[in-house]
Amino acid sequence: MSPARPPSRDAVAAPPVPLTLAGRRGKPPRHLADLDLAGRRAAVADLGEPSFRAVQLSKHFFGRYTEHPDDMTDLPRTSRAALAGALLPALLTAERELACDDGTTRKTLWRAFDGALVESVLMRYPDRVTMCVSSQAGCGMACPFCATGQAGLTRNLSTAEIVRQVVAGARVLADGQIPGGPGRVSNVVFMGMGEPLANYANVVNAVRRLTEPVPDGMGISQRSVTVSTVGLVPAIGKLAAEGLSVTLAVSLHAPDDELRDTLVPVNRRWQVAEVLDAAWDYAAVTGRRVSIEYALIKDINDQAWRADLLGSLLAGRLAHVNLIPLNPTPGSKWTASRPAAQREFVRRLESHGVPVTVRDTRGREIDGACGQLAASARPS
Ligand code: SAH
Repeated sequence: MSPARPPSRDAVAAPPVPLTLAGRRGKPPRHLADLDLAGRRAAVADLGEPSFRAVQLSKHFFGRYTEHPDDMTDLPRTSRAALAGALLPALLTAERELACDDGTTRKTLWRAFDGALVESVLMRYPDRVTMCVSSQAGCGMACPFCATGQAGLTRNLSTAEIVRQVVAGARVLADGQIPGGPGRVSNVVFMGMGEPLANYANVVNAVRRLTEPVPDGMGISQRSVTVSTVGLVPAIGKLAAEGLSVTLAVSLHAPDDELRDTLVPVNRRWQVAEVLDAAWDYAAVTGRRVSIEYALIKDINDQAWRADLLGSLLAGRLAHVNLIPLNPTPGSKWTASRPAAQREFVRRLESHGVPVTVRDTRGREIDGACGQLAASARPS
């Protein structure tokens, strides 16, 4: 893969730049999770080490969730620091941890090399553990009900910065730090900060790293990975052609363009009919049922007629609706629907034969529920 980096133009004049200042260059340091195994072998060879060390390092990171040279007793002591330094740089530092649900929901605020803040959430259920990860610092989609959307986009996360959030969850689970005994991450949802399909290449690369078996990646099942999007139609088409069996979630939130133009502003570019067509193409190509996300907002999008319209759009399709009681965000006048309105919404969708689930609101007390992640608004 890439040969040793050429000296940068200012290398002569400038003193060595610590990694923390590398942000000026805008790119997180290279990490083995950014590379496929062939790329890792080449990078290791560039360091003058035998290329099988790439497999050893990969097993430490993806299989044992460690980045510490001291843990790598199968590597010669003299090479450990150089290998780890070059391929396992510190990418994210936990700035704050918040837990609720008796410790089975845990949100981490991460600080990246350039100070960018992102959040991830671990949710342990009786039958699975889901990691909700961020794909961008901030978000450029500006949905008015979403906390992340209010501050705008800071930058895309690298592949390794995304993967690292899951590895961190895997580590605390393996260590038995989450009530319920040692466990594994079974599911990953791209429902943290950011619009995953606006960071397409890094997100798809991250999906590959998460789902390839050790030592290539973490070995999570593709079917247990969900990519959630506002509906970037060309990118949905591209994702369908990747040959991945990940679940697509489409954040619809309104069945009509008039309302969706305001709730999901990118709708002015790709309207409901186009977004749903892309979703049905995705379902046809992958055989995967599409998840239609719909945050129920009192008196805004929860009317019975909208339930009927949504039901008629989805009837007979390979889709199910995931209703999310709105998680109120600071400063917003919007609240969750009344229970009766929610029940009626469910009933009407079901009467069209559309499967419906109502999402639980895990993590609400720690601002870790959907749409509440807004790290940059709360610097510590
Ligand atoms: N940008 C992607 C993924 C991140 S958000 C997307 O929009 O799909 C994950 C889900 O949470 C989306 O369905 C989003 O619309 C929803 N969401 C955002 N803010 C919310 C809020 N305040 N209450 C409930 N759901 C919210």
